[in-house]
Amino acid sequence: MSYDPSNIFARILRGEIPCKKVFESEHVLAFHDIGPKAPHHILVIPKGAYVSAQDFGEKASAAETQEFFQAIAKISADIGIAAGGYRLISNAGENANQEVPHFHMHILGGAPLGPMICRPA
Ligand code: AMP
Repeated sequence: MSYDPSNIFARILRGEIPCKKVFESEHVLAFHDIGPKAPHHILVIPKGAYVSAQDFGEKASAAETQEFFQAIAKISADIGIAAGGYRLISNAGENANQEVPHFHMHILGGAPLGPMICRPA
C-alpha cells in the first residue's frame, strides 16, 4: 500500500489541523487521541511517511526506530502511567481495522484495561 498524504495524521503533521500535543522530537509527534478508550490514550506517530507498523519496521532508520520507542517510554513515565502499567496497540492493515493509514502506536493506561482482546465471533 502506498502512502496517502491526505490522511488525517499527515494533515496534523503539516499543521493543517490541530492536535493536543504531548511530545515532539526530530522524528516523533505524540498527541491525545480524539476518542479516548482509557483515562490516558496517547497516539505516538513518526514524522516520516510510513503507512503501518509493517512499513515502519521494514523501512525506518535506526534513529527513527530508537527515537520512537524512547518517546513511548518517556511519555508513559511523564504522564505517570509507567509504574502502574499500560498497553501498546498498533493496528496494521485490514484485518486489524486500521483506520488511519499513517503508522501510529496507541498508549493506553491509567486504569486496569481488562483482557487484551476478545476473539471475534
Ligand atoms: P486506528 O484504528 O488504530 O487506525 O486508530 C485511529 C485512531 O485515531 C482512533 O483511535 C481515533 O480516535 C484517532 N483519531 C482520528 N482522528 C483524530 C484526530 N484528529 N486527532 C486525534 N486522534 C484522532
